[in-house]
Amino acid sequence: MITPVLPTYARAPLSFVKGEGPWLETETGERYLDLGAGIAVNILGHAAPVLVRALEEQARRVWHTSNLYRIPNQEELAAGLVEHTFADTMFFTNSGTEAIECAIKMARKFQSHAGHPERFRIVTFQGCFHGRSTGAIAATQGEKMVGGFGPLMPGFDQVPLDLDAVRAVVGPETAAIMIEPIQGEGGIRVVEASFLKALREICDENGALLILDEIQCGMGRTGRLFAHEWSGVTPDIMTVAKGIGGGFPLGACLATEHAASGMTAGTHGSTYGGNPLGCAIGLAVLGEVTAPGFMDGVSRASGHMRQRLEGLVASHPTIFSEVRGQGLMLALKCVPANGEVVKAGYAEHVITVPGGDNVVRLLPPLNITEAEIDAGIARLDAAATAMEAAAQ
Ligand SMILES: *Cc1c(COP(=O)(O)O)cnc(C)c1O
Repeated sequence: MITPVLPTYARAPLSFVKGEGPWLETETGERYLDLGAGIAVNILGHAAPVLVRALEEQARRVWHTSNLYRIPNQEELAAGLVEHTFADTMFFTNSGTEAIECAIKMARKFQSHAGHPERFRIVTFQGCFHGRSTGAIAATQGEKMVGGFGPLMPGFDQVPLDLDAVRAVVGPETAAIMIEPIQGEGGIRVVEASFLKALREICDENGALLILDEIQCGMGRTGRLFAHEWSGVTPDIMTVAKGIGGGFPLGACLATEHAASGMTAGTHGSTYGGNPLGCAIGLAVLGEVTAPGFMDGVSRASGHMRQRLEGLVASHPTIFSEVRGQGLMLALKCVPANGEVVKAGYAEHVITVPGGDNVVRLLPPLNITEAEIDAGIARLDAAATAMEAAAQ
């Protein structure tokens, strides 16, 4: 018999009722160290006091009005993100997928508004993940994502992470190139700065827009507010979600004034997107992440964690083969099936997240301490030792 919750996830037999910082607690009071942070979402940890305060204060004022009216804290959050990024304007959403939908629509609208309705195609990359709506699965491709859901929305050209392949496919119908600066679901694959630079050039030469999907790698995860800052490349459009709400469902599609030029009143909308409750929390998150010293903390934690992970790979060559990633967006490439490693982690009360290319992802809260990292490494070490013993 089908479960009341649609069984689209093969869920782990774990449930948490309480959290504090990087720790999660089950109903029976067992504590787990959370190195997944709800897939890069809880960037300030669980139940961060600053976010609890922001939520409570806003909950007593007003939760929701509508985008039919001005929303002061939405305007304040947008102004804050404009101040800290390439963007001039943005549309708020409740999820990453909706931010992607907005980006796709904006790119197409930009081209048609500029007199080029024939420019509607978007180039995406093998190993990408852009979400689960009908538009986003067409962008993402892959049998697991699209099987049985056709016919797919037309207009996506997927290529390997190879510049010749990009140049071969970009043409007079190309509206945009869309890429994650670090592929998340695809297995924490860092895209080289030189590759992003070349994409920027190809876009400029061909009248196409560059869309960066920073839903997973953005909001301080790499030690800069947005991952593309490391490359010096700026996009025309950028999607953000996950960390931006610190656990509250919030996303955004950021753009330059030029790229957003077709998006006039009535062209797009959302009932909830950017409502007062969400934006109160978004403002609190942005305040923390842009506070002096926060990014230095991420870089320090990253250096420490990376070093400890390298040690783990050296001690357990039959379990782990490589550390990859940037900042606190890290992964261990596994020798056995990554799902088995995640399970062995659960047995040691440490939470990791599987990813493509047989990795386990480590996406801890950005304010994790060195002592907490050491505790996580000790648990991963114990998990790997248990797997080695079982294989004997
Ligand atoms: C998670 C993710 C999405 C989809 O976001 P949802 O909030 O699950 O809709 C899109 N792109 C990337 C890079 C992601 O990591």
